[in-house]
Amino acid sequence: MFMQTDKQENSNDCGVHSIANATALAFGEDPSEVTFLKSEMRAHLLKCFKNKRIQMFPHTKKRRTEESPIQKSERVTIHCTCRMQASGFQYQCEGCSIWFHPECQGKTERMIKKSKKPYCSKCNIRNTQHIPNLAFM
Ligand SMILES: [Zn+2]
Ligand SMILES: [Zn+2]
Repeated sequence: MFMQTDKQENSNDCGVHSIANATALAFGEDPSEVTFLKSEMRAHLLKCFKNKRIQMFPHTKKRRTEESPIQKSERVTIHCTCRMQASGFQYQCEGCSIWFHPECQGKTERMIKKSKKPYCSKCNIRNTQHIPNLAFM
């Protein structure tokens, strides 16, 4: 016959663990989302008995969303009238500070690079100075 003596030790741990789980629930934590620090559980329980006050067991939280790195490109401000994000050459309008594709504003990259203060077609109407009348809109 086999006597599995070590099982008793485990069940003892289990008792502590179930108290820890119950404590977690009492403290509004989901026991399935915390990992108790096994080595500190017994000491903690003893301390609780001593203080006659049960407190949340030492634990770490399991993290679910940790693995999604924040993509920097998502922080980009509004781009152009076509709503396409950062592709190809873009310029920042001097009037509204929005980035545009020159093509979407009836301009070319060369025109933008030549002009010291490029505007979008909207601001272009408001600032009709030395800009060729390419914007019919
Ligand atoms: Zn565009
Ligand atoms: Zn503008």
